[in-house]
Amino acid sequence: MRDVYDVTIVGGGPAGLYSAFYSGLRNMKTKLIESQKELGGKVLLFQEKMIWDVGGQPPILGSQFVKQIISQAKTFDPTIITNTKVDFIEKDDTNLFIITTNDGVKHYSKSIIMAVGGGIINPQKLEIDGAEKYEMSNLHYTIPSLKPFQQKRVLISGGGNGAIDWAVELLDIAEEVIVAYRKDQFSAHEAQTARILADSKAKVLFNTSIERLIPNKEKTLIQQAVLKQDGKEESLLQPVDHIIVCHGYNRDASLGFAENINLSLKDNYYYEGTSKGHTSQEGIYAAGDILSFDGKVNLLVGAFQDAVNAVNSAKKYIEPTAESIGIVSSHNEKFKKQNKQIIRQILVEQK
Ligand SMILES: Cc1cc2nc3c(=O)[nH]c(=O)nc-3n(C[C@H](O)[C@H](O)[C@H](O)COP(=O)(O)OP(=O)(O)OC[C@H]3O[C@@H](n4cnc5c(N)ncnc54)[C@H](O)[C@@H]3O)c2cc1C
Repeated sequence: MRDVYDVTIVGGGPAGLYSAFYSGLRNMKTKLIESQKELGGKVLLFQEKMIWDVGGQPPILGSQFVKQIISQAKTFDPTIITNTKVDFIEKDDTNLFIITTNDGVKHYSKSIIMAVGGGIINPQKLEIDGAEKYEMSNLHYTIPSLKPFQQKRVLISGGGNGAIDWAVELLDIAEEVIVAYRKDQFSAHEAQTARILADSKAKVLFNTSIERLIPNKEKTLIQQAVLKQDGKEESLLQPVDHIIVCHGYNRDASLGFAENINLSLKDNYYYEGTSKGHTSQEGIYAAGDILSFDGKVNLLVGAFQDAVNAVNSAKKYIEPTAESIGIVSSHNEKFKKQNKQIIRQILVEQK
């Protein structure tokens, strides 16, 4: 038997996660599908950075923000599927959407919220056989925390903004920062480049790339990196505790499903829509960075506002007699039980 959802959200970044919370608040049976193993979207790329510009939220680490928004998304127990990419969307003659994912599974939904942001983003990997073995130990493409680098020798591969921002950030934390870049000058911001070149704690190696990785006896950690400088093979042996690779990102922004469902696009990618989250296709709404309209705000707060509008529009589409907007959370009976517990806890803490 077909398990039909009121709304299926494509994408588990901030817009998709907040949509999942809000559609629960509006009593909609909700499914969310995310292509990556982890929820959080682009914020996973800057987990160690502080976010200051979310209203009413004190400065917060990206990693903490991701934890909080995932927890909020789960408030009303939506079905969440990760590591699964939406490949194709079609509508049958009863107006039910059939969403096909890369594992061949078909998902059935009365409405859809597209929250696919800038597409599926993955870091460009080090092109060395077997390097992936160390991704669980001391080879890094993203940095959830700076703690492991305290008083360590850190080799950074790359010369763009990502690499040099990391190098500068680690100057006060690591014992030694080595930057290896295949070209003869950095392409990062001038001020950051000047800082790294002027700091005696940083060792900068231009025309240099990582050739091989030498592990410890147990083959669990990289102990040394063999670097190739000025085209000379294995000219440098660098002892390291950690390697950070910043070689940019691959973006899979294939919108096969958009071609098929005929959504109007801006710049061949973004969905042309309205501030109410409408796209050019009835029943398909959008929120977050993927949606384009006059006055659009490409920030977390913009993604939240889009999510509320997209959910309200989807609700009205599947249930035309429903209220256009949801009941505010402060007076919403849905939270009555949790509120009692939370207020009791606050009173205990205030004693
Ligand atoms: C470096 C950087 C720093 C930033 N700093 C700030 C800041 O300080 N404050 C602020 O407010 N904003 C900041 N932003 C912007 C903010 O991160 C974005 O506005 C926000 O992430 C948009 O959320 P989203 O959910 O629309 O898209 P995304 O975060 O891009 O999430 C989209 C999700 O959809 C998934 N997806 C895509 N295609 C498919 C598919 N076919 N099937 C299944 N899943 C799919 C992707 O894997 C991804 O997880 C920053 C952005 C960057 C890049």
